[in-house]
Formats: sequence, structure tokens, C-alpha cells
Amino acid sequence: AKTQRIDKILSNLGYGSRKDIRQICKNGLVKVDGKVVKDSSAHVDPENSQIIIGNEVVNYREFVYLMMHKPQGVISATEDNRDQTVVDLLDEEYLPFSVFPVGRLDKDTEGLLLLTNDGKLAHNLLSPKKNVPKTYYAKVLGTVTRSDIESFKEGVFIEEDYKTLPAELNILKSDEISEIELTIYEGKFHQVKRMFEAVDKTVVYLKRLSMGTLNLDPTLPLGEYRELTEEELESLQ
Ligand code: URA
Repeated sequence: AKTQRIDKILSNLGYGSRKDIRQICKNGLVKVDGKVVKDSSAHVDPENSQIIIGNEVVNYREFVYLMMHKPQGVISATEDNRDQTVVDLLDEEYLPFSVFPVGRLDKDTEGLLLLTNDGKLAHNLLSPKKNVPKTYYAKVLGTVTRSDIESFKEGVFIEEDYKTLPAELNILKSDEISEIELTIYEGKFHQVKRMFEAVDKTVVYLKRLSMGTLNLDPTLPLGEYRELTEEELESLQ
């Protein structure tokens, strides 16, 4: 079993500084598996023991996984000098975990954003080699037609020397302002917007609906987030 100092465990979970934890332990407020632990340098296996502070059972975990329904106007980053970031939207109980967004959505893009401190999972979802599908809903200025479906299936040039991988375009409404769903298997900067620019159309509204096996929860209000369910997490891993 992997043990760590109890002051480290508890301060990583946001219960205070190591100094704070030392005092809390001295005061007899910390119990491990039913026994008071007064020495904050004691080693404990947090995965396999029950830690209680006062009368609160500590919910130990190394990683957290949050599904956010990102609103427009916030930046997919942990810090920004000017704008609010997705991390600014989180409750302070999550701050000790140092989560970061898995990939980026533009400031004006809404929808599914995963936040975690699990670097390995993030890498697996973002690695260009894994071709994880991402599905977007968009409103597009211009009439999207069958020929655009063919173009996206074939790949379009979004840079002079870069042709996109085959992507699946589904037309929901073909009109002066069209509505579509698009699934892409890579994640270049402004990819969806640039793919439509390549066929002379303009994305005016963009929302991500899914990433890999993870779907945006339709009951999750814009700007809110929740932890992934066990099923969601298992299917992502
Ligand atoms: N493609 C874009 O153009 N913008 C996003 O935010 C995501 C995909």
C-alpha cells in the first residue's frame, strides 16, 4: 500500500497548510480508522483507510474529472490576464486539485469541456495519434449542401499545406443559415471554423457535443459543471 504523510494528504485536499494540519492533529481532531492521530507526520494509506476530521469523513481521491458546459466569453485555460477562465468558474473545493481543461474551445464556443488533473487521461484524449472523435453542432452562414459533405469526407485545406482528415458532416437544416453536426478526428486551432471557411461559409455559432465516449449532459445548464459518473469515466479510460 502506498502511504503518505497525513499532513500532505490533507493539505493536498484543501484542508489547510501543513502547519494548519499539524495543529488540527495536535488538537485530537483527526482520526484514522477510528484512532486519533496526533502526529501530523504519521504515514497513512489514503486509498485504504478512513480519515475523519472533526466529524467529517474525508473524501480522498487523487484525480478529479469534471464535465463543464462551457459558456461563451470564458477562456479554456487556467489563467488569463484579461478574461475569466473556465477554472474561475469552479467552486473552491476543486482548486487544490489543480485541474486544467483537456484541449481548448474558443472563447466564443460553447459546450462540452472536460477538466481534470489526470495528465495521462488528458494525453490519451489529445494525442494526435489517437484520433479521438469530437462532434460539434454549428450554425453556419451559407447554404450547406451535399457537396460540402463530400468535401469534408475528402478533407479540405485549412492551411496552404495542411489537408484535414476525413470528417463526417451531417446537415440538419440547409438554408441561408444552415445547421449541421460535424465529427472531426483531430483538433487543429479553430478547426471547424476554418473547415467552413475552406468551403466559403462562416460558422456563427459553435457548440461541442461530444469528445470520445463523453457526451455533453443535456440537463447540465450552460456555465455549470459536475463530476463525471463512474460509467462516464470508465468508458473514457
Ligand atoms: N473548432 C473551432 O473552430 N473552434 C472550437 O472552439 C473548436 C473546434
